[in-house]
Amino acid sequence: MKRPTILVLGAGYGGLSTVVNLQKIVGTDEADIILVNKNDYHYESTWLHEASAGTLRPDQVRYDVKDVINSSKVNFVKATVDGIDVNAKKVTTSAGEYTYDYLVIGLGFEGETFGIPGLDKYALSIANVNAARQIRDHIEYQFATWSTEEVQDDTRLTIVVGGAGFSGIEFLGELGNRIPELCKEYDVPKEKIRVVCVEAAPMVLPGFDPELVEYAVRQLEAKGIEFSIGTPVVEATPEGVKIKKGEEEFEFITAGTVVWAAGVRGNRLIESSGIENMRARVKVEKDMRAPGFPDVFIVGDCALMINEETNRPYPPTAQIAMQQAVTIAKNIVALIKGNDTEEFVPSLKGTVCSLGEHDAIGDVMGRKLTGTKASIMKKVIDNRALFMIGGIPLVLKKGKFTL
Ligand code: FAD
Repeated sequence: MKRPTILVLGAGYGGLSTVVNLQKIVGTDEADIILVNKNDYHYESTWLHEASAGTLRPDQVRYDVKDVINSSKVNFVKATVDGIDVNAKKVTTSAGEYTYDYLVIGLGFEGETFGIPGLDKYALSIANVNAARQIRDHIEYQFATWSTEEVQDDTRLTIVVGGAGFSGIEFLGELGNRIPELCKEYDVPKEKIRVVCVEAAPMVLPGFDPELVEYAVRQLEAKGIEFSIGTPVVEATPEGVKIKKGEEEFEFITAGTVVWAAGVRGNRLIESSGIENMRARVKVEKDMRAPGFPDVFIVGDCALMINEETNRPYPPTAQIAMQQAVTIAKNIVALIKGNDTEEFVPSLKGTVCSLGEHDAIGDVMGRKLTGTKASIMKKVIDNRALFMIGGIPLVLKKGKFTL
């Protein structure tokens, strides 16, 4: 009998964890496992705010896929997926066409600009490791240009961050540490810098404990960051952003850098795949399969799951993506063996939001943490993710150990 082909798209937290789990439980002659990813490396999306601010080098954020896969069991293909057709069971990539018996889609997130004019064109987005490098270089370029131009344009030194959610706040925390270094490096007086966080919702970090949010805002304000809350961005232009401050009241913030961190959606390839979706996210069945396609699993940010306790979707996180991967690997093996699949039940351990290298807030197993304790916990979480994919060798190579 022909061995089934398991095709996994994307080597992010979800896709790579699926493959690492599969290679542990699938025998060499039981299935052909193919992993397709745009790059020959995985990047830690949860560290991209650091690479974007320039507090962590981009190469520290990524590692080679071949370092964590067992090449006797997994065929890794470096290629860009161009199209998915689940009705024809066909995936088109830059390296050719693939068919499958089981498909796992783990192509991750894209920035959501909610149709706000100009954002796609004029704002930068913390989307992947190359985009993070572009943000870092763009900010440095503004500092370098200011310090060499004859007529100095101070608005170059204004940075607008759209979004006071998780990634926006983590990025601001890093900027708060990086800016004093940049000022020193480029001879820019600190008072020339303006960093403004613009948020449409009436609060910072929705869903977080209010006391922790208050702490986070206080810490960031102490680093000179301004907050403009309840003021949606209505337009972006090459000069900056227009925000709505009241019924008929608008303000234009002229800025050299605009970073949009106010929302994510699933990968747009989902929209033309033939699977029902909402903003490129698939409301998955309890066992992580796509509705109507029993041979297709969705992992990570492309999957949408409703938390029945709150009746709201679970937030897209690496934590959940890696847990889903364990269930998906088990369920594929169950299907190959003709057994029943199991339900995915998330086990939420808590959330820690970094505010820069030595500061954070966290709600972990019912305990509220701030400052160094929370920051240490964040590094433990980061190292644990490395351990789960690449074991101790990967932790030693890429782990975070400074307290
Ligand atoms: P990803 O990890 O994004 O992986 C997708 C993969 O698919 C990538 O390797 C990409 O290169 C590849 N790919 C995409 N398109 C194609 C294509 N066309 N062809 C081939 N390959 C392709 N979550 C937490 O749990 N904790 C945190 O502290 C946290 N902090 C975050 C901070 C920031 C700044 C950001 C941006 C996110 C953060 N998240 C955090 C969310 C977390 O990063 C995502 O939920 C997680 O990355 C989702 O995993 P994924 O596997 O779905 O996608």
